[in-house]
Amino acid sequence: MPKYIAYPQIKSVSARDIVTRFAPSPNGLLHIGHAYAAICAHDFAKGNNGRFLIRMEDIDTTRSRPEHVEAILADLKWLGLYPDGEVIFQSTRVDSYQTALAKLQDMGLIYKCCCSRSDIATALKMHAVRHGPDGPHYPGTCRGKDIGDAEFCWRLDVAAASERVGTLRWSDMVAGDQIADPGQFGDIVLWRKDAPASYHLAATVDDAADGISHVVRGQDLFAYTALHRLLQALLDLPTPIYWHHGLLIDESGEKLAKSRASAPLAPRRIAGGDGAALAVSLRSGQLPLGISLSRA
Ligand code: GLU
Repeated sequence: MPKYIAYPQIKSVSARDIVTRFAPSPNGLLHIGHAYAAICAHDFAKGNNGRFLIRMEDIDTTRSRPEHVEAILADLKWLGLYPDGEVIFQSTRVDSYQTALAKLQDMGLIYKCCCSRSDIATALKMHAVRHGPDGPHYPGTCRGKDIGDAEFCWRLDVAAASERVGTLRWSDMVAGDQIADPGQFGDIVLWRKDAPASYHLAATVDDAADGISHVVRGQDLFAYTALHRLLQALLDLPTPIYWHHGLLIDESGEKLAKSRASAPLAPRRIAGGDGAALAVSLRSGQLPLGISLSRA
């Protein structure tokens, strides 16, 4: 029996099967923060006789690279994390995101937006807007406007959408019961100009399609769950239970991505390093010097 990470304990698993996923975006290589995240999702599933899936969030064709897909899959094997079933690729599922978007369009909850980044920056100088976890809200320039033939993205009218579904709740295994506040983000993009569906739309549709019972992911994505909960309500999708686990952080408290310590795993694997031993040390909380786990 392998030793598992200290995942949250659940009382009963009889009501539904446990299914988790690790969903990397192949726009870069994995570092040990990703390895920790993958272990959390894997161990929670495996420790509860559940299934662990791997989903490549590769719809952003401007940033996804096949060589990163290859390296990520090799890294996960190296760590001893094997999926139950074939690896899922979002790039093969664009039709289902389109169908979800069309449903929201039929409800009159999305609108075309042709604003460039600089249009938004200019508008923000003239309108005071609320700031959220992703920065200032979209100032609403294109809401209710005919944009003609301009290139556009689709935005969700978050206020109208929230009004339609009323108060929404979701539950985190560590942080407890939550009331979703999607309004903290303003009108998010659901379909991009330069790439298909946004992360929010694709991940929400896929978590339902893949029968994910427990979304295990880093705390940095906690706030986004409000948006995912909103999309679930609008699209009649089930709401999984969540565990937003702690993040590996460096000495300055930054999550690993930008620090020296976020060196990719691939060179260690290629140089013949021991991936199973790394997984064991991450599970037992023995982290490299200068790295610690943020509180979940
Ligand atoms: N693809 C996302 C990322 O790499 C993860 C999304 C999720 O777990 O919901 O940050």
